[in-house]
Amino acid sequence: IRLNDANLSDIDAAKPAYDRQALTGGIVHFGLGNFHRAHQAVYLDRLMNTGKGHDFAIIGAGVMPSDAKMRDALAGQDNLYTVVEQSADASQARVIGAMIDYLPAADAGAIVGQLADPATKIASLTITEGGYFIDANTGHFDPAHPAIAADGATPDAPKTVFGMLVAGLKARRAAGVPAFTVMCCDNIPHNGVVTREAVVETARLSDPELAGWIAANVAFPNGMVDRITPATSDRERAMIRDDFGIADDCPVFAEDFIQWVLEDNFPQGRPALEEVGVEFVADVTPWELMKIRILNGGHAVIAYPSGLMDIHFVHEGMENPLVRAFLDKLEAEEIIPAVPPVPGTDLNAYYAKVAERCANPKIGDTIRRLCLDGSNRQPKFIVPTINDRLAQGLSVDGLALESALWCRYCAGVTDSGAVIEPNDPNWDRLTKVANAARDDASQWLGMADIYGATGSDPRFAEPFAGWLAMLWRDGTAATLTTYLKG
Ligand code: NAD
Repeated sequence: IRLNDANLSDIDAAKPAYDRQALTGGIVHFGLGNFHRAHQAVYLDRLMNTGKGHDFAIIGAGVMPSDAKMRDALAGQDNLYTVVEQSADASQARVIGAMIDYLPAADAGAIVGQLADPATKIASLTITEGGYFIDANTGHFDPAHPAIAADGATPDAPKTVFGMLVAGLKARRAAGVPAFTVMCCDNIPHNGVVTREAVVETARLSDPELAGWIAANVAFPNGMVDRITPATSDRERAMIRDDFGIADDCPVFAEDFIQWVLEDNFPQGRPALEEVGVEFVADVTPWELMKIRILNGGHAVIAYPSGLMDIHFVHEGMENPLVRAFLDKLEAEEIIPAVPPVPGTDLNAYYAKVAERCANPKIGDTIRRLCLDGSNRQPKFIVPTINDRLAQGLSVDGLALESALWCRYCAGVTDSGAVIEPNDPNWDRLTKVANAARDDASQWLGMADIYGATGSDPRFAEPFAGWLAMLWRDGTAATLTTYLKG
């Protein structure tokens, strides 16, 4: 059955219990990719099913010409789509109805007009980590980026998300309409702070006074989001047709786990999302640290030994007794004890859930994806834990092994001799240094942009050198076995 409003009653899946015709737009969302559709839109759909939040329907917006494809596909099915939530032993399909319109892609007039509409209370974003124009050297927004400079020169014809937000806020201010709240849902620590800098600095290029007004009057709550949501391919379109009998051109498949911790800073009001599982807090920092260190750090712990032993899928890594025991021991002895307390959260239970999610065979997440981009990830996910432990005089033996496994992986061949295709933006440099480090581990630890001063701290450098030598001599399985005996 073709998914659309007219056919909804014939569709065999959970579906909206509310009158979609009566919904009104309250949220303009930029970046209508898979994650938004499986996360924010799902929470709103849940809320709407309780009879609330009907004035917070989603109106999609996209600045990339490529967004036209998704817009057309959704328009062909009345902006309905299916989310399939997959646990290890069950799959549940739900038709999501929280989105009522998708503005023409890259159409500044339509998008800014909707942002200026007093009914719009929130502008939200999932435009990927790369969408924030961060200068890798400074870690801050780059107002000199050509796309941003262009929006600064022609603020009435913006092309970037930030140029459009500035134009929308300018129109509201001129009309005496209070500012909307800007809610970032990208996977970036302190994502509200990062978004605020991008919007304020874009405004400053054309109108410094407006920049000051935005800084003083617009709320940018920080949030921590979590739900593994792979890309949709023909495989998923076939599954939705064959397993559920629904002709849907843009279904989303996701794990059944979902989490959203959000700072409660919405001066224009917000949907009552706390009624459907969103946790509202004053400061999201402890939740960010928990996720980065236990989940993202844990991914790295699974990834490199699995990669070196030619394991393809993440759940297969979790089925390998050595990898699983390495993860359990390292989390318990070194990672979890270094995570500051999180209100109302049992960190061991959080980790148990992370391990269960990684073991879910339905997700099809790959080891190669987890191994990707270690040069950017290790300094965020692993090195800060090492630093905190050293500062407290605690052992980093297992974290040194994790670091040595990453180094060994970057040498570019697995234990069996299979070649590892480039898997990092800095792959050439990493491969060169990793091979040099085979005889002199300090070469690897000398990468100051990754290890800082920690690379020359003997409490880390000595176990690192020992593990690296063992990995080359005895291989990954034997090295993990030695670690697990300790
Ligand atoms: P996706 O590729 O399905 O969608 C990305 C969307 O961002 C598209 O609409 C695209 O047009 C838009 N976009 C890309 N670059 C942009 C730019 N420079 N300016 C404006 N828009 C841009 O990806 P996704 O799975 O929806 O993930 C998006 C983001 O969501 C991630 O980068 C991450 O920050 C967050 N997230 C994703 C997951 C996940 O498992 N997929 C989990 C947690 C958080």
